[in-house]
Amino acid sequence: MNNIEQRLQDTLKQIEQQGLYKRERVITTPQGVKIKTRAGKEVLNFCANNYLGLANHPEMITAASGALHTHGFGMASVRFICGTQDLHKELERRIAAFLGTDDAILYGSCFDANTGLFETLLDDQDAVISDALNHASIIDGIRLCKAARLRYQHSDMNDLEDKLKQARQHRTRLIVTDGVFSMDGDIAKLNEITELAQRYDALVMVDDSHATGIVGPTGRGSAEHHGVLDKIDIFTSTLGKALGGGSGGFTAARQPVIDLLRQRSRPYLFSNTLPPPLAAAGIKALELVTRSSELRDKLKQNTAYFRNAMYSATFDIKPGEHPIVPVMLFDATLAQSMAAKLLEEGIYVIGFSYPVVPQGQARIRVQISAAHEHEHLDKAIRAFGKIGREMKIIE
Ligand SMILES: *Cc1c(COP(=O)(O)O)cnc(C)c1O
Repeated sequence: MNNIEQRLQDTLKQIEQQGLYKRERVITTPQGVKIKTRAGKEVLNFCANNYLGLANHPEMITAASGALHTHGFGMASVRFICGTQDLHKELERRIAAFLGTDDAILYGSCFDANTGLFETLLDDQDAVISDALNHASIIDGIRLCKAARLRYQHSDMNDLEDKLKQARQHRTRLIVTDGVFSMDGDIAKLNEITELAQRYDALVMVDDSHATGIVGPTGRGSAEHHGVLDKIDIFTSTLGKALGGGSGGFTAARQPVIDLLRQRSRPYLFSNTLPPPLAAAGIKALELVTRSSELRDKLKQNTAYFRNAMYSATFDIKPGEHPIVPVMLFDATLAQSMAAKLLEEGIYVIGFSYPVVPQGQARIRVQISAAHEHEHLDKAIRAFGKIGREMKIIE
């Protein structure tokens, strides 16, 4: 025991010395635009995935608490024993209808959806072709399956085509990509990817965790954005971001895919059912997203407003239209200290550096929400301007 403790302490020290040690700030209020931390100060939150402001939305609270009374707190079961309620079937039906697939299957998280996907559908006769910047849960899911693994350079269509050619002899080729990449907020080129898929007889799987509910004219995600919703074979996504930010994930696809996942997918078979309040809140979130475009429109306006103001202030912003707004600082220490100074100004943002982003690409990732009002955006823009000038990042 002494030996392993020493080894763990050494590793922890290394993490700390590399400036990578993650400390958790304790929030004492519900998640939202204005939050309080244990330090007692109220700050404006610009780093949640709460894109539509549903994390503490009154209709979500009502839906979740209603189900708590009608359907109880927990299921104490996996789905196939005694863990399937009408709520779970209804949520699956609505997800499938939303994405235009035959069916959908719920998981405890999108992480579980991804780790339970590949080994169920593919074996050593098949090939997975994966974007280099895909989410950790996709990488882990692929590691669990015996298919040949090919990795293409991020959003590089020539490289993807090379890999498709290399995988020609395999029985099934599955192209796998995040719909929106979390560090840059860039949208996968699904129009080109689906075209290549057609040409090389491949399937396409998209993890739309940062897109479901917010990207595309009706919030159906990155494939809708590119007009190729019907060309995606498998979707995975989360209830933990725009759709309320609770927890839960899902896979949506054609019937045999979902049917086999219900029989064989290990995180589905061996992990507890989503609690009824979360299933009810998921149904409500989809209802809110489809009922009107109001929240999505406001998110879009807020994002454009913030991006434009930051461009005008001469910050180096990664171009795009997603509410993930990367403010490029390149230097890790600069990103950390700017985030700390912004917090003192009442703006809660986080600096990201290597290995989360490439070496020399440190940044502050701002995330805009429909719950932000103009005064909140203005306060953030002023704070960025003030600290940016103080730190000589802008003129
Ligand atoms: C956030 C995220 C996940 C994880 O979702 P959870 O439901 O929190 O497990 C998976 N994939 C991508 C692309 C994500 O951004």
